[in-house]
Amino acid sequence: MRNLVRSFPVISHGEGVWLWDTDGKKYLDGSSGAFVAGLGHGVREVADAVHAQMLRVGYVNGTQFTSEPTEALARRLTADAPAGLDRAFFLASGSEAVEAALKFARQLWVERGEQQRGRVVARIPSYHGNTLYALSISGRPHYKKYYGPMLSEVVTVSSPYPYRSPVDDYDMHGAQWFADELERKLQEVGPDTIGAFIAEPVIGSSAGAAVPPKGYFPAISEVCRKYGILLISDEILCGTARTGSFFASKLYDFEPDILVMGKAIGGGIVPASAVLVKTAHVDEMKRGTGYFMHAQTYMQMPTITAAGVATLDYIEKYKLVENARATGALLHEELRKQILPLPHVGSVQGVGLMAGVEFVADKATKAPFARSRKIVEKVVNTLFEKGLIVWPNVGQANGVDGDLVMLGPPLTIAPDEVHALVAMLRAGILESLEAV
Ligand code: PLP
Repeated sequence: MRNLVRSFPVISHGEGVWLWDTDGKKYLDGSSGAFVAGLGHGVREVADAVHAQMLRVGYVNGTQFTSEPTEALARRLTADAPAGLDRAFFLASGSEAVEAALKFARQLWVERGEQQRGRVVARIPSYHGNTLYALSISGRPHYKKYYGPMLSEVVTVSSPYPYRSPVDDYDMHGAQWFADELERKLQEVGPDTIGAFIAEPVIGSSAGAAVPPKGYFPAISEVCRKYGILLISDEILCGTARTGSFFASKLYDFEPDILVMGKAIGGGIVPASAVLVKTAHVDEMKRGTGYFMHAQTYMQMPTITAAGVATLDYIEKYKLVENARATGALLHEELRKQILPLPHVGSVQGVGLMAGVEFVADKATKAPFARSRKIVEKVVNTLFEKGLIVWPNVGQANGVDGDLVMLGPPLTIAPDEVHALVAMLRAGILESLEAV
């Protein structure tokens, strides 16, 4: 949501994990903006590559041409992608990629003569975007508040969310519990009315970097396979090395039918997203209608894809997958040591350079603060004053209450910067929650 009543500092420049505003104030960007500046700020290599591409050719119509960087990015991304995902197309935002992925899945069912497979299963809580269908499938009730008549019906199941799990031993029994829930839901609504199931491997801000229980995705994949449902992995936030694996689906050991990426794939300097699909599915469409009924103006734009190629080069050159793993381990260790014991910190969770810190009124019962107390706003404002940027979320406890902050610093963050981040976070939490 864009706040219309407050004024925003004007940022003048950034470098690495740091940003400076025009008054000279320095901020540690603890969430890479909206998880976009994954390479950090002021990355010359990516800017130079995009500039060079702009001078060669900045735009061609994706319905008429392809281009060298577009082909290169498709080749590079699909080379290491989960099995079978060997075709790619590119758009300019996560919501667009989600919409395109769902339309691709839907068209495939129409091509197969299964018109009745028009529904999607999604999870609560979750987030897949803010355009109307992406919002429909997002498990975030407060985002939908005003838009009911414009949204579509979606079938929902529970998200795995360890801190507020319905299962006693999350890791031991969670996978089976959630797979059974999905199967029951499919039986209830009719599995042959469902075209696709969409999930974030690690849930973004809607559940504060919630990781799935062991074996969750293999178990869910098995249910999807049994009923012929296409599995879509939304790696817009948790992909592009964030978890310490370039593809989050590889970390969680499953092979989606469609995979969407966004945010950091544009190197933090251009809006970019990607949809990876299977050749087998493209071939079905080729044999059928011969086209995918979807196009957008900035589809396959060379400026976007040049940024993507330079981003992959940068990640490889500076070993950022490995850094996300190693520095991420340090971040989680420090959060467990220094943040989890604080009053009102209920949980610290996540993986790699992705973490969520949840605040509760009562640590013993996990009771959330009433939303009217605006706890996370207090925390975020105090941290902002101190020069630490984090990403807030509300509502995850019961759809209304719940306060958490997300951390996702640039993948280039150094150990001393992790210590600085945690020290600022600790001071800010203590200060803002001491009198609540
Ligand atoms: N999917 C996930 C998991 C996201 O976190 C987001 C954005 O936060 C989106 C989709 C939507 O992406 P965008 O805001 O670029 O449209």
